[in-house]
Amino acid sequence: MKTIIEPFKIKSVEPIHFTTVEERTAILRNAGYNPFMINADDVLIDLLTDSGTAAMSAKQWAGMMDGDESYAGARSFYRFENTVKDITRFKYIIPTHQGRAAERILFSIVGEKGRFIPNNTHFDTTRANVEFSGAEAFDFPTEEGVHPDVVAPFKGNMNLHALEQFIREKGAANIPLCMITVTNNSGGGQPVSMENIRETKKLLSNYHIPLFLDACRFAENAFFIKKREKGYENKTPKEIVQEMFSYADGCTMSAKKDAIVNMGGFLALNDDELATKARNLLIITEGFSTYGGLAGRDLEAIAQGLTEVLDEHYLMYRLRSIEYLGEKLTSASVPILQPPGGHAIYLDARRFASHIPVHQYPGQAIVCELYRSAGIRSVEIGSVMFGKYDAEGKLISPPMELVRLAIPRRVYTQSHIDYVSECVIDVFKRREDLHGYRITYEAPQLRHFTARLEPL
Ligand SMILES: *Cc1c(COP(=O)(O)O)cnc(C)c1O
Repeated sequence: MKTIIEPFKIKSVEPIHFTTVEERTAILRNAGYNPFMINADDVLIDLLTDSGTAAMSAKQWAGMMDGDESYAGARSFYRFENTVKDITRFKYIIPTHQGRAAERILFSIVGEKGRFIPNNTHFDTTRANVEFSGAEAFDFPTEEGVHPDVVAPFKGNMNLHALEQFIREKGAANIPLCMITVTNNSGGGQPVSMENIRETKKLLSNYHIPLFLDACRFAENAFFIKKREKGYENKTPKEIVQEMFSYADGCTMSAKKDAIVNMGGFLALNDDELATKARNLLIITEGFSTYGGLAGRDLEAIAQGLTEVLDEHYLMYRLRSIEYLGEKLTSASVPILQPPGGHAIYLDARRFASHIPVHQYPGQAIVCELYRSAGIRSVEIGSVMFGKYDAEGKLISPPMELVRLAIPRRVYTQSHIDYVSECVIDVFKRREDLHGYRITYEAPQLRHFTARLEPL
């Protein structure tokens, strides 16, 4: 097997700003040991997120110039709408400025106190929007999905047995919809099988509960299905994607992921009444129904990106570049969530820094040291991000303590990734020197974005 190469040439470059360890030590202190508070100019390799950080293609940039900026009925909206309809087959396509705007609109209609939203694993903004509406968010990952070292093909799957028990317990009337997140971002970027989506739909149909996909990484999920699920080897990514959406009644989407753009999203659905309500809300806070908070040029770039993301050479390169980093780290015994997901490598912080107790945030310790020593920005996905407190103020931890190295789409080359693996391995070798942190400031919601910490 020959090397799978980047399926593009580079036409425009952006210099990286180099800093010294001494400079980064001060920067980290000033940032309250929170990577979200570091200026991007002070980052060498930015793996904070794959969201909105992609490099657009020449055709997308050309589309930006061609964008129709008419207030109503812009040509770019129809190109966007046709592309999304072609992929999802949903009846109503509602553009929003980000995925979370789609979530907010959806849950302000269906969510309220006494209602429950199940998901394989809620992404942080999804959970926040469910909870903000007054409803409660519940996660149903499979058993294998919460064990970082278990290798299985579809660790993002919904736990159907637990879901059915939950529906019986809470009552179908109190569950306005169920979500499946593809790929399962908070669960490690792990894919969901077609069989699992189909079976979830079948189960929900018995209770007349609609299924919505949190579709941010629908194309990456489809390529995992092609590679791993029997019967899909010879199907095109587009055919697989169309089948995935055929089991759903709607979706929320952050175009900042698999539409390969820097901003945008949409809500798509079939229900007439829900769509009318969503459009009314859209007009109040996002914009008219043919632009929804986006410029015509953004809609143009999304339409083009949604076409490019289904290219097999792109998807092969995309999944391989993540797997490549995973292989390098695994060969040096660095504990990572196995197998590598579709958009990121997740370090297993519990095993990586096993001497740091969970309430001293081992993931944050790794994040800080990766930045200090190497200028690499990553993010903790563990107790800093998802931690809650019980009545006595004791930390309730999520099942896993992870550090995510998210790989932006089409941005870094193989040598950047080689540098990342060398630096992670270096920190791993010095792991005994890592120390814990404590939080000195936190906001009531999504605390990880603005929290301040200090080393213990
Ligand atoms: C990014 C993301 C969202 C939210 O989208 P934004 O565009 O950041 O608002 C929702 N769900 C998942 C799984 C995501 O990865």
